[in-house]
Amino acid sequence: MKLFDYARADTPEAAVQDMSARFIAGGTNLLDLMKLQVETPAKLVDISRLDLAEIEKIDDGGLRIGALVPNSDLAADPRVRDRYPVLSRALLAGASGQLRNKATTGGNLLQRTRCGYFYDTHARCNKREPGSGCDGREGFNRILAILGTSEACIATHPSDMAVAMRALDAVVLTLAPGGDRRRIPLRDFYRLPGDTPQIETVLQPGELITHVELPAPPAGRQTYRKVRDRASYAFALVSVAGVVAVEDGKIASASLAFGGLGPMPWRDAAVEAALVGQAPGDAAFAAAADALLADAQGYGENDFKIPLARRTLTAVLRELTEDAA
Ligand SMILES: Cc1cc2nc3c(=O)[nH]c(=O)nc-3n(C[C@H](O)[C@H](O)[C@H](O)COP(=O)(O)OP(=O)(O)OC[C@H]3O[C@@H](n4cnc5c(N)ncnc54)[C@H](O)[C@@H]3O)c2cc1C
Ligand code: SF4
Repeated sequence: MKLFDYARADTPEAAVQDMSARFIAGGTNLLDLMKLQVETPAKLVDISRLDLAEIEKIDDGGLRIGALVPNSDLAADPRVRDRYPVLSRALLAGASGQLRNKATTGGNLLQRTRCGYFYDTHARCNKREPGSGCDGREGFNRILAILGTSEACIATHPSDMAVAMRALDAVVLTLAPGGDRRRIPLRDFYRLPGDTPQIETVLQPGELITHVELPAPPAGRQTYRKVRDRASYAFALVSVAGVVAVEDGKIASASLAFGGLGPMPWRDAAVEAALVGQAPGDAAFAAAADALLADAQGYGENDFKIPLARRTLTAVLRELTEDAA
């Protein structure tokens, strides 16, 4: 690990004083990357003691989650378990108990990809070293993306939590150096790789995530299904966060987000449009999967994700609409 300066912030305002500093929260991703010298920040600002670990009710019936709420606390919160079970299940499907105790809401949104070439400083990786090339496209790409990729990068975003939050229309609240505060809908938070895969979000240097807001839960049943190589402690090959309401025998609303498929928690309005107004059943589910996968591209070892995504989406839709009135 390279030498770095370290400071602890007592308030969010104090944390955003130095635009060149990097924040450390639970440290479960950043420290690993520093040990491998994938990331070499000159200065760390420890935000772990900021007063941002509360989950509060907000006026519209939603919840405001502090950026430092540990993943385990968020998953166990009775309001999350009762009203946002898709989020609770997604969190519990991630990492391990010990990691979830350390991992924070803000850090989870900003964890880096698990592409093996990104972690291997001997490999070519445009995300780690812009302009160096991408060993993922032609190499071991089993876990890499099939949607939203570019010539420069085909990495996936690894978070489970963010997929559920995307289905729930979460909003990220930030504080920038200089004091400006922003509300950024999660749909606008992540960037496609294009030819700058090293820039992953719309956050500016030194901008701190303070909270994530969830609006009141959408109508309907909720679930999160994660397909992975092991029963636990593995990242998603494909995951689906779903919220679907059925009224009078027709799908009245649907909110579906996908993990393991793209460089960001993936949501596509065409998938939901293919379902709304239709009777639940194989025809509607197939149309939704067709819409999701119309532009999918495999890179060899990850070709299997295309049929796997179809089957996982279909299984989630069956579960959410079975016996629904
Ligand atoms: C073995 C292993 C298995 C895992 N499995 C899964 C899994 O299955 N599913 C899954 O979703 N995750 C998984 N994870 C990832 C884990 O969830 C993340 O490492 C964790 O959520 C990151 O949170 P943190 O607080 O530790 O972030 P840190 O490591 O402290 O920070 C991560 C990044 O976020 C930035 N940051 C942190 N907080 C803020 C903030 N408030 N504002 C602005 N920037 C901030 C940091 O500067 C850094 O760039 C796994 C991790 C490991 C090590
Ligand atoms: S897929 Fe992206 S992260 Fe992986 S090697 Fe290529 S550029 Fe790097």
